[in-house]
Amino acid sequence: MMNSDSIFLLPSSNKPMAIPTKEEEEEEEPPISTTTLLSFDTDSSSPSTPPKHPLTTLIFTALILVTCLAVSAAFAFGFLFFSSSSRPSLSISDDVSVRPLKKLKRPVVLLVSSDGFRFGYQYKTDTPNINRLIKNGTEAELGLIPVFPTLTFPNHYAIVTGLYPAYHGIVNNYFLDPNTGEAFSMRSYDPKWWLGEPLWETVVNHGLKAATYFWPGSEVNKGGWTCPQSLCLMYNGSVPFEERVDTVLNYFDLPSDEIPSFMTLYFGDPDYQGHKVGPDDPQITEAITRVDGMIGRLIRGLEEREVFEDVNIIMVGDHGMVGTCDKKLIFLEDLAQWIEIPKDWIQSYSPLLSIRPPPSYSAKDVVTKMNRGLKSGKVKNGQYLKVYLKEELPARLHYSASDRIPPIIGLIDESFKVEQKSSKRKECGGSHGYDNAFFSMRSIFIAHGPQFARGRKVPSFENVQIYNLITTILNIQGASNNGTTSFPKTILLPGH
Ligand SMILES: [Zn+2]
Repeated sequence: MMNSDSIFLLPSSNKPMAIPTKEEEEEEEPPISTTTLLSFDTDSSSPSTPPKHPLTTLIFTALILVTCLAVSAAFAFGFLFFSSSSRPSLSISDDVSVRPLKKLKRPVVLLVSSDGFRFGYQYKTDTPNINRLIKNGTEAELGLIPVFPTLTFPNHYAIVTGLYPAYHGIVNNYFLDPNTGEAFSMRSYDPKWWLGEPLWETVVNHGLKAATYFWPGSEVNKGGWTCPQSLCLMYNGSVPFEERVDTVLNYFDLPSDEIPSFMTLYFGDPDYQGHKVGPDDPQITEAITRVDGMIGRLIRGLEEREVFEDVNIIMVGDHGMVGTCDKKLIFLEDLAQWIEIPKDWIQSYSPLLSIRPPPSYSAKDVVTKMNRGLKSGKVKNGQYLKVYLKEELPARLHYSASDRIPPIIGLIDESFKVEQKSSKRKECGGSHGYDNAFFSMRSIFIAHGPQFARGRKVPSFENVQIYNLITTILNIQGASNNGTTSFPKTILLPGH
């Protein structure tokens, strides 16, 4: 049921199509022009430059052209060399189209999340099981791009709804509803918070079964989804990872008609360690080994049941991780000379600074004064924070179309943090939530199964594309969302 709040959030009845697509945004990039290279010649007629001898000009131009040709040839050769060595076996014989199922009756997608699995962690140590999925499956070559803010709940729910947080409603891990003053926390299961249509709801609406072994939002009753006890676990971080894997494996022992078509599996590592010690610590390496071990356990269990090649395993993370330290802090009290920002205006400090001043204040005025102070050179680390009216944030962040998003948002440079006032506390650790353009915030996309080519690398993409990818694999009609309808074709083997 939609309450007035959700109607406000989705004014165009759950059709957030006005958002510019990625392609449109990319078109704004100015094309690289060759005229600058040739401007030597054209400028020679201008009065400020002395005229050159025509022969010298000719030789000079010829030299430039020869150099350009040589450089481009070198680039082209390098590109061919590297692309052929890093993109093996695009044309393996059984990769022409979707491979037929051997044992299962219909397609199954198992969506696995490893929280805070920053792109690149897979190279920290030997990860034979994850590597097996990569080698025989399809991988986002430079990782999966999270949505902004790069936090756990906004991203997990974007993955299963295909919506940006402004549209799926989970705009932060904690936030206030400005109309009722009610607080959302990661334990809020009231459907009024959770907008859009998550995959488990789409799946059961089509008469198929879904099973969730933890995923933000999965405990919430929505539409045909009632979080049935045998197929939906209430979050409990202390359940051993082995038990989670084994429970999912047991679903494959059900009679074939009862095997869920869509399953989720969630591990809280390596996010847990990342916050404590930052991304470059032996504890992270250990956590990666452990997650890889769980993938190994999963693969072995599926092989024992002779369904490993039948299941579409999609392994993702919600966001990356970057190191933080007490020297990289910005204190709001340092802005007092320009504007006092009391504690109770702040909804979150870091890495997403969000501020809701009382209605008697002009948000625009607050932004102007804050930025004046930050740019003054008198505020420690002030240059690493920029404050915006939410409507004026870069459009690529898609972070304004909800009244749950406070009117003022601060973008903090990676690894910096904002605090109210200085303290003697010393700490180093890790954090995430920053601008999703930072490479450190990227996670992984690794997919293996009958609908994915083996050994294929694809360009990075935003995680809102995954919803359409999964509905396409399951051959069901999804709800409207922020993903592009043509996207699944670029990732999946033909046969749909
Ligand atoms: Zn985290």
